[in-house]
Amino acid sequence: MEISSILQGGYQHPLSRAWQSRRQLTKSMFMYPIFITDDPNASVEIPTLPGQRRWGVNRLEEFLGPLVQKGLASVILFGVPFKCEKDGRGTPADDPSGPVIQAIKRLKTLFPLLYIACDVCLCEYTSHGHCGLLHQDGTINTEPSVERLAEVALNYALAGAHCVAPSDMMDGRVAAIKRKLIDAGLGNKCTLMSYSAKFASSLYGPFRDAAGSAPAFGDRKCYQLPPAAKGLAKRAILRDATEGADIIMVKPALPYLDVIADAAELAPDHPIACYQVSGEFAMIHAGAKAGVYELKTMAFEAAESMVRAGAGIILSYFTPEFLDWLSA
Ligand SMILES: [Zn+2]
Repeated sequence: MEISSILQGGYQHPLSRAWQSRRQLTKSMFMYPIFITDDPNASVEIPTLPGQRRWGVNRLEEFLGPLVQKGLASVILFGVPFKCEKDGRGTPADDPSGPVIQAIKRLKTLFPLLYIACDVCLCEYTSHGHCGLLHQDGTINTEPSVERLAEVALNYALAGAHCVAPSDMMDGRVAAIKRKLIDAGLGNKCTLMSYSAKFASSLYGPFRDAAGSAPAFGDRKCYQLPPAAKGLAKRAILRDATEGADIIMVKPALPYLDVIADAAELAPDHPIACYQVSGEFAMIHAGAKAGVYELKTMAFEAAESMVRAGAGIILSYFTPEFLDWLSA
């Protein structure tokens, strides 16, 4: 046997195995997506997302208090309104009495050290369920869409969000949001995390259940990227980095590890985030339930492969479990 043939001597012990990763998973890498609804006392199970619930603002202390104790560092808020009057421009998105703005304020008071990101989109608030404003013929009207998204982002930032994260995939929205934040004096107070490469995926089903955000007609393929579009994803990443994004995100995560690696290469000086979406989470649970693998082992394998690909921030519904697992 040649000396150069032997690799196994380098990873024979749990510690030397751990040393083989360039970066270890840490609690602060995990950002927990949470659904805030407009019934302030709600705590409603979401059947397709095991263990996840829609929460009202009055329940946030009991829900998040124990997690903050365990080291929860950040959350990303999604508004799930049921009672509001939806319209063509998503007016309820930044209603001061709506769930997101109320939740930001409550969380800042309850947990002053918790980092609060807000998803910015219009689909939960528009009557047609699309992520932007539409022309008469039902196609996206880009300019007013971007203007409206920037307005919503600014209002979340003004309410105290540490980070705004546009998920709509409208062209030019990163520049518009950044400009709006700067003009309002918040350029140095609010992070812009862009869902830069967001693909039109089959893995969003449980989220749409949770958020009630399926489009009333058509689909989102004219703004979300085609799954095979590697080049387009690279252009979107570069564009958003140029337009002022502070963090670049890839969504979904596991089927798009090559895109995460591309992002890490194209934007080497930006933090890279990825969103392990609802369908990925549900899939890992379903496989574990069917006896295909052990849940924790698979959850670690998935998260570690995202970090290996180049992500430093993982948006994941497994966040509460990882707070336990990484304490052990
Ligand atoms: Zn949307």
